Amino acid sequence: MNVYDSERMADLLKPLGFTITELPEDADMVILNTCHIREKASEKVYSELGRIREYKEAKRLNNQNMVIAVAGCTAQAEGEEILRRAKYVDVIVGPQSYHRLPQILAEIERKTAVEEGPGRGILEIDFPEESKFDFLPETSEPQGISAFLSIQEGCDKFCHFCVVPYTRGAEYSRPVETVYEEACRLVEKGVQEITLLGQNVNAYHGTFSGGEGEVWTLGRLIQYLSKIQALKRIRYVTSHPADVNEEQINAHRDIEKLMPYLHLPIQSGSDRILKLMNRKHTTAYYTEIIEKLRSARPDIAFSSDFIVGYPGETDKDFEDTLELVKKVNFASAFSFKYSPRPGTPASMLDDQVSEEVKTERLARLQSLLFEQQIAFNQSLIGKSISILFEKQGRHPGQLVGRSPYLQSVYAEAATRLIGQCVDVLITHATQNSLTGTVMTQEKITI
Ligand code: SAH
Ligand code: SF4
Repeated sequence: MNVYDSERMADLLKPLGFTITELPEDADMVILNTCHIREKASEKVYSELGRIREYKEAKRLNNQNMVIAVAGCTAQAEGEEILRRAKYVDVIVGPQSYHRLPQILAEIERKTAVEEGPGRGILEIDFPEESKFDFLPETSEPQGISAFLSIQEGCDKFCHFCVVPYTRGAEYSRPVETVYEEACRLVEKGVQEITLLGQNVNAYHGTFSGGEGEVWTLGRLIQYLSKIQALKRIRYVTSHPADVNEEQINAHRDIEKLMPYLHLPIQSGSDRILKLMNRKHTTAYYTEIIEKLRSARPDIAFSSDFIVGYPGETDKDFEDTLELVKKVNFASAFSFKYSPRPGTPASMLDDQVSEEVKTERLARLQSLLFEQQIAFNQSLIGKSISILFEKQGRHPGQLVGRSPYLQSVYAEAATRLIGQCVDVLITHATQNSLTGTVMTQEKITI
């Protein structure tokens, strides 16, 4: 979602004359779009700011200005502290208030013009009444064949380990029509695959004004978007198990364009820990959903998120997680050591798990997950699967694209096949990618 937000910020600043530069020393403005989900991500902010400060200093010596802005969830959570610790930061904007950047820049320009001096950085982290989406300009030229489209933001679930409800704010769904229009614009500009985004994307409940304010679920929205003819593939991320509903499951059964791949984080395989986490689902419920989805769409594959070393997690709880993984069999997964986050209930618990135990558990879990990932990738060898080619590969004459299961697939193919779905016979698989041969005659004319 930060990728999506960063692109929107660039779009917002375009009418003011800004363009993207790859060279920080050239920049009139640097926006650091930050993540707060785990401590590691947040810590990076200060080291990055230190680096950016040097560019600002060099420009100042040349009588030029560089505006430094910090955006994203760390800005939202620690804005005051950032301004205190890094006095050279000019602007702090939160994930729901970055649409105000143009006004903020005008304010900075005015201050500089009347020589009020640098002053204190501007802090813009209130959750505004208005939705930022009503203020964002049309998406500019998308970067490629596949694009993100944010449809839902924020979260009301308050898992005890998580900062999202505090940093992204309350759950909000964009109206159906605005999502549809944005999707059409992306497709007109050559996008073939859209990934719908939301912190809890399947909690989507957007209004459809054409139906006198009807409220639509994610499944219904996907059904509607699938009617856009030139759109080839639809994905969505991230789903919460407790929000999975029949329309979502049926969408996987009925809509060919919806990829048979679902990221469904469970976090732990122990019901005791899930309860402590305030996750609102059990392992039995989770596996039941998996079964239903597998019956609806037999070729569907799953990925998930896991946290190891949640406060109070015993060896037995951890073994339960390994058992759950064996039972479900994931195509890929993300796994993390529990990271205490300021202000969350779990960070205040006494029975924190030692770093050593977390490290050991993470290694064991990851080795099992990697085994499953390799096995899944290898299971595709000898099969012909549809690949949406996105760009040139590593070698001349080679393209790289994505399988329905989001794997990177390399194959020799003509450049004009970029943006096309092509059947590829998979011949080789590693943990991270697949290699194959294009099944049509197209490959002859490289
Ligand atoms: N809404 C999604 C997840 C969003 S956060 C869901 O409920 O499943 C993305 C992932 O970051 C989470 O699934 C979790 O595995 C991880 N995460 C969040 N807070 C964390 C923390 N404090 N420590 C470690 N991992 C965390
Ligand atoms: Fe965080 Fe997801 Fe839980 Fe919401 S549902 S609090 S985003 S982990």
